[in-house]
Amino acid sequence: MSPRIVDLTLVIEPTAPDAERKFVVNIHDALHEIPGKVRPPGEWYVMSDVELMNHVGTHIETPFHCLKDGADLAALRLDQLIGPAVILDLRQAEAEGGVTLAQVQAAAAAAGGVRPGDIVFGQMGKTRYFATAGLVWLVEQGMKLMGVDSGGVELSHDTTHANVNHLVLFRAGIPLIENLTNLDRLTRSRVQVYALPIPVKGLDAFPLRVIAVEE
Ligand SMILES: [Zn+2]
Repeated sequence: MSPRIVDLTLVIEPTAPDAERKFVVNIHDALHEIPGKVRPPGEWYVMSDVELMNHVGTHIETPFHCLKDGADLAALRLDQLIGPAVILDLRQAEAEGGVTLAQVQAAAAAAGGVRPGDIVFGQMGKTRYFATAGLVWLVEQGMKLMGVDSGGVELSHDTTHANVNHLVLFRAGIPLIENLTNLDRLTRSRVQVYALPIPVKGLDAFPLRVIAVEE
């Protein structure tokens, strides 16, 4: 049987220049056009200048997002971005201070466990972020890459330190993918994932394509 491919990536719609999370496409004639060539109606030869806020759509955040000497996009290891992934169904997990450790552990058990080297994707419900203990536990299980279908994992009202939850991941060298989609189209709790951003030096985050393959 041929493998089933599920795209976990949001489609990006170009925005106006003043959008907060902008992705502006300015299309124009290609450089170095040779004059005099025939161009029938309906054809053109264009390139685009693109101006974007880099945390737009489905995007990956690297340790460099919060750590000045953390790995940037160009330094991510490919083996961290490809491999077996476990999907944690946290849609029913509601909690005041973020999804709890017990809720994470229950979802992991229901999915067959989190194994060393796993990619972990959280399918979030009403509670769209984590209590820190659940993330610490996932790191301790040997997770190599994390993703969520919410806008992030961060505590919403923590005033003690900026980015506590991001740092649990980034200090362990674990990148974070935000705004995944289509996790509900997966038919199994373990899939093969390919999450491939372009390598850019000195950049903390960028949109990427995330693909799940069900064998
Ligand atoms: Zn982000």
